[in-house]
Amino acid sequence: MKTKLCPPDSANIDECAAAIKAGGLVAFPTETVYGLGTNALLEEKVGQIFAAKGRPADNPLIVHIGSVRQLKKAAVDIPDRAYRLLRSPLMPGPLTLVLKKAPAIPYIVTGGLDTVAVRIPKNAIAKRLLTKADVPVCAPSANKSAAPSPTTAAHVLADLDGSIEYILDGGPCEIGLESTVLDLTVDPPCILREGGTPRSAIESVIGRVGVSCDTAAAAAASAPKSPGAKYKHYAPRAAVYTAEPDERAEVGRFYDRETAAGKRCVILSMTETPEGPRAEWPVGKTAADYAKRLFAYFRRADEAGYDVIIAVKPPHNADDVSEAVINRLNKAAVGRV
Ligand code: AMP
Ligand code: MG
Repeated sequence: MKTKLCPPDSANIDECAAAIKAGGLVAFPTETVYGLGTNALLEEKVGQIFAAKGRPADNPLIVHIGSVRQLKKAAVDIPDRAYRLLRSPLMPGPLTLVLKKAPAIPYIVTGGLDTVAVRIPKNAIAKRLLTKADVPVCAPSANKSAAPSPTTAAHVLADLDGSIEYILDGGPCEIGLESTVLDLTVDPPCILREGGTPRSAIESVIGRVGVSCDTAAAAAASAPKSPGAKYKHYAPRAAVYTAEPDERAEVGRFYDRETAAGKRCVILSMTETPEGPRAEWPVGKTAADYAKRLFAYFRRADEAGYDVIIAVKPPHNADDVSEAVINRLNKAAVGRV
């Protein structure tokens, strides 16, 4: 199959919307990362997504809709908390709601679950595409499974060229990591995955929410010694080691030891103007800057042949995306400095 890389003009958006409706595979920009979408109602077509990505069948897909008008096509028994979030400034945006599945959504989309994850992206191109397609669109991130999520059209092309029909090129993604996944079928609601919407923002709308054992907040509460050792996900080929914001001296020592052992190392940190001979890529001043650059730097390090990435974590702050950045770093990491 030839993959068509398209600028997001109206003719191309119309063509991609028609392709999605017919069950074709289209990669499109959202504010979080690029998604790989198809018509969620066509059971026999959804399997292509798992095949193209190499994604395990029990990992469910998020269903994307253009507006709240389409919500009832995807979910039933929608609780009041969902409507409060939908009316709040958090939505449309990087927040995914887990709700009771509507019968029309096939089980291949939900990994066999009776719940469905639904999101309304804020990105204007995604919104126009979804509105035009006028069907629920299931879309995981448009990367090979286990690789870092794509935040540019070039990343999508690098992973999926020849196995999908279209890529709509909307430039670099605004947020750069995935949505927060919030389960509204339990009481209190529970964050299943940290992401672009901070926990405190959700709590300001619907009150206290729980966190699953998969999140940084839960990991911090139980203080595991080496959280990274448990996970391997969202990861580059290079070995990722994490450091706390106040461990600059440890970072330097670790870098020098690995380099002496013949490894090519690079440091990711919020230090604005790194000094000295060590390779260091600044991730910006805020957790939001860090989120935007993290996956692109993972890919760049692999392309440039680095063996080791030493990532200094952002300071933890419940009011920004630092929890999501820390979660992705812990998942990618093989250890600590
Ligand atoms: P991705 O599309 O790669 O960003 O991953 C989607 C995320 O949403 C994964 O962490 C899934 O496990 C989660 N997810 C999707 N559907 C459901 C669901 N019905 N219940 C719980 N989690 C879900
Ligand atoms: Mg993904």
